[in-house]
Amino acid sequence: LVHIISEEAENLLDNPIQVDQHGFVRLVDYMGSDQSIVQAARVSYGAGTKSVREDRGLIRYLLRHSHTTPFEMVVLKFHIKCPIFVARQWVRHRTASINEESARYSILSNDFHIPEPTELNVQSSDNKQGRGEALDIVTAIDVANRMASVYDTAYEQYEYLLSLDVARETAREVLPVGIYTQFYWQMNLHNLLHFLHLRLDPHAQKEIRDYAEAVAYLTKAVAPVAYEAFNDYVLTGRRFSGEEMALIKLLISNDIETVNEHSLSTKSEVREFLAKFEGI
Ligand SMILES: Cc1cc2nc3c(=O)[nH]c(=O)nc-3n(C[C@H](O)[C@H](O)[C@H](O)COP(=O)(O)OP(=O)(O)OC[C@H]3O[C@@H](n4cnc5c(N)ncnc54)[C@H](O)[C@@H]3O)c2cc1C
Repeated sequence: LVHIISEEAENLLDNPIQVDQHGFVRLVDYMGSDQSIVQAARVSYGAGTKSVREDRGLIRYLLRHSHTTPFEMVVLKFHIKCPIFVARQWVRHRTASINEESARYSILSNDFHIPEPTELNVQSSDNKQGRGEALDIVTAIDVANRMASVYDTAYEQYEYLLSLDVARETAREVLPVGIYTQFYWQMNLHNLLHFLHLRLDPHAQKEIRDYAEAVAYLTKAVAPVAYEAFNDYVLTGRRFSGEEMALIKLLISNDIETVNEHSLSTKSEVREFLAKFEGI
């Protein structure tokens, strides 16, 4: 196994996944798949490929125990078009290689983000960084119209400044953060899963979450077994505090027989689960 590909990812290459009105996520290229993780992890043994079941067990073990470097052997490259306010959150993830469209060099297109009326909400009362109830439909339509009106004025002025031959790098100052930008984004799988953990979370803003869903779909196509493990241990798994563990121990101590060998994905996971409750 020298050059590893994923059939599913091959079929998705270069097919942009539409996100909101004007945005997309496109898988430009990728290097490696689940097999690359296994290959790197086994290099020390020179043991060659094992059965699919054993490979899955190894990938799950590595992810569960934070043996992260084999996941860095898989690399994905995306082309993304998203509003600037989404891109600002996106680029906070520092472990990527990025190249963004230059508004000093190019004239930005007249594409702006306006939420669907059903996605326009009031400020959340219990989460300072979130949304509450949906606006009533009349108010929502009014808000969407006002946003469109600001965008029209801003873009008109942008074009006017360009017509006066004002430098592009200066003219762009009048454009709001709802305008779209584009960038190439390359990341290894370890860092990408970290990005997805943070940006698929319900606490992340809805607009970047929509993009993260598209990135997740493509990532799953590149490395399905690793993604399944990530989903089990990170996305849908939970960490418990010492106090919470003591409480869980108390709750299951009368019902320990139900923890049988078939209740978890692999035997080692059953062993590890029981070890957490040693002494029951
Ligand atoms: C729901 C949500 C709300 C947020 N709100 C805000 C906000 O209000 N204001 C704001 O500024 N940001 C905010 N952020 C951004 C957040 O603080 C992180 O900058 C962003 O999520 C990137 O995470 P990261 O640093 O783990 O990722 P990466 O930059 O990809 O880094 C990956 C990992 O590498 C290591 N690393 C990278 N660089 C360093 C370094 N310099 N020093 C030490 N370790 C490093 C860390 O272990 C880090 O976890 C928010 C993020 C989320 C998900």
